[in-house]
Amino acid sequence: MNCDRCKGDAVMHAAYSGAHLCEAHFCESVERRVRRRVRRDDLVPKDASPENPQTWVIGLSGGKDSVVLTQILHETFAEDPRIELVGLTIHEGIEGYRDKSLEACVDLAEDLEIRHEVVSYEEEFGVRMDDVVEDDPENMAACAYCGVFRRDLLSTYADELGADILLTGHNLDDEAQTALMNFLEGDVAQIAKHFDASLGPLSEREEQTEFVPRAKPLRDVPEKEVALYAHLADLPAHITECPHSSEAYRGEIQKLLYGLEENHPGTRHSIISGYEELAGIVSDQYSGDDGADLRECVECGSTTTREVCRKCSLLESIHAV
Ligand code: SF4
Ligand SMILES: [Zn+2]
Ligand SMILES: [Zn+2]
Repeated sequence: MNCDRCKGDAVMHAAYSGAHLCEAHFCESVERRVRRRVRRDDLVPKDASPENPQTWVIGLSGGKDSVVLTQILHETFAEDPRIELVGLTIHEGIEGYRDKSLEACVDLAEDLEIRHEVVSYEEEFGVRMDDVVEDDPENMAACAYCGVFRRDLLSTYADELGADILLTGHNLDDEAQTALMNFLEGDVAQIAKHFDASLGPLSEREEQTEFVPRAKPLRDVPEKEVALYAHLADLPAHITECPHSSEAYRGEIQKLLYGLEENHPGTRHSIISGYEELAGIVSDQYSGDDGADLRECVECGSTTTREVCRKCSLLESIHAV
């Protein structure tokens, strides 16, 4: 097959758009989608200037998604004195998994000459995920512990690094799965929160003073295309799956979406565009309801709706074993 634009050899065919693209035009199209998303989400505020630069902290796991996001943002903003990129890697303490992907993060940050910080569960909380999984004091899936710890460290360090935005490498498949899961769980409040935390254009979100706003500029790009981009651009991405990966429900939704996408190309895109529109409306409806009973955790001072935050209560039961 030939590229639709230059008649060179096509390296990919996107069933949802009908496009056949060669390597150069495919890479360009991925980069264009990320830049368009940065614009549409108003990520660069009007008052950003070389004297008032923005700090963008990227959650850099070393997997293909965060590596591709970092690379494209670097290419876009390397010469722009208004934006400073910082990579933040969380080490969970998972033997044979995170050590390898940490190498990928270090290589990339060195290549791109961007600041890179690494924080670990072990140093911060005195726990390693490998041990948590073995003891499992709350009888939960590994990701239920791990997600709480990761979110806590990402927001603590985003804050510490003076982040204006915290960016993560969620792709179209991830976001379509989350949208469908929220919808199927009937959790309308969660949909409103999702919009205000990470989806809507910054200018349209409900103001959140307690949390660094998040952004996902890779969310228009399907997972397979992110992987292809990482491969073609020869990026140091690490592809091994986490051995404790246990999100059973998400796995089910993922399979369902693969099937739907195959029979009805474009399903992921339409789920996301409808969901985002709906989430914006719901967030307006819910505005002011949320945050009323936020307070500080008595143990660690982080913002929570309980007396002791979820992270502190999980740590307490882990340390009690
Ligand atoms: S798959 Fe689960 S346990 Fe593994 S790193 Fe991700 S959240 Fe943690
Ligand atoms: Zn071409
Ligand atoms: Zn706490």
